[in-house]
Amino acid sequence: MSEIARSQAGEASGSGQPLWLLAELTYRCPLQCAYCSNPLDFAAVKEELSTEEWIDVLTQARAMGAVQMGFSGGEPLVRRDLETLVAEARRLGFYTNLITSGLGLDEARIEALHAAGLDHIQISLQASDPDVAAAVAGSPKAHAKKLAMARSVKAAGYPMVLNVVLHRHNIDRLDEIIALCDELGADAVELANCQMYGWAHLNREGLLPSREQLETAEATTARWRERLAERGRDMRLLFVVPDYYAERPKACMGGWGAIFMTVAPDGAVLPCHSARMLPMSFPNVRDRGLREIWYDSDAFNRYRGDGWMREPCRSCDERHQDVGGCRCQAYLLTGDATATDPVCSLSPDHHLVEAARREAEADQRRVEQLTQRSVRASRVFCRQ
Ligand code: SF4
Ligand code: SF4
Repeated sequence: MSEIARSQAGEASGSGQPLWLLAELTYRCPLQCAYCSNPLDFAAVKEELSTEEWIDVLTQARAMGAVQMGFSGGEPLVRRDLETLVAEARRLGFYTNLITSGLGLDEARIEALHAAGLDHIQISLQASDPDVAAAVAGSPKAHAKKLAMARSVKAAGYPMVLNVVLHRHNIDRLDEIIALCDELGADAVELANCQMYGWAHLNREGLLPSREQLETAEATTARWRERLAERGRDMRLLFVVPDYYAERPKACMGGWGAIFMTVAPDGAVLPCHSARMLPMSFPNVRDRGLREIWYDSDAFNRYRGDGWMREPCRSCDERHQDVGGCRCQAYLLTGDATATDPVCSLSPDHHLVEAARREAEADQRRVEQLTQRSVRASRVFCRQ
């Protein structure tokens, strides 16, 4: 089918072209964050796509119309061919974003990535306090390294986004966290309350903040926005509320198979990076072309549009705004991926979210007692 015919067919079936490609280059990572969104059984993935296979993926995605791409993982800097892939992505015309912990970065690599044409770097910070950061990431040295690399990235002239995953063990230090990001010269800070997928779901009750913590954090963010504006400091603060405290779900990935496409380290193609844990199989770029996968595969069509919805979503006026919420969240909470996302207060399963909040209030675990993401811990979840 020609590009135009394909595009028209896509429009007719409600599936436009993908705009965003997330290339999860590897599940390898030197850190062990207890909230990592990687699959619990990531250790089962052995054979990563080669440089040539990744270049083929980039070429196919760009030909389909994707314009933005993120290199992530795991830790994408583990891949020694990252600079080659960035250069190829830029040559193809992608806007490129590196999503990294900062581990594996040094001045030489920053320069090499700059030379390759990388547009944007996002570094994650775990906390303002080195002890909490070490406990969360499972590495005593990572925090200092991250701060040094954030300074180097800024010095190299990159627009810098710092990403801080918030949870009950660091959210009370938000004032210090934002001050640190200010001092590091961030252009934007994503204060992303932990969403409960992958390892975060495993540690859910030990990570979810209380409503009181959340309200205090929102007030702190509002105060900082005023302070920054008074100083004429251009540092955007984006505060992402945890789904478990929302009344309506988010329009997950802008809709299943609507604009986002994730390619996992072994070539599995997913509508979002969490979808791998759903009880269904996903096609692989080693077997089929991206175009066929996007338009024709069962995996990408199963929850596309609103034909799959059940009540109360099916007759709800808001269904085009939130597309019924997140399929992964529905599955994790109810065991049924076709259910209304229980985050929605109209869902008959909303009591499960309320129960999770109560369980979190009662959880006394220290951050050191959470299950950290590690190869050893992952093997327990690997299917035989
Ligand atoms: S969340 Fe932590 S453990 Fe997971 S990939 Fe990112 S840095 Fe690595
Ligand atoms: S019932 Fe479904 S469509 Fe309506 S607001 Fe809730 S999740 Fe969205």
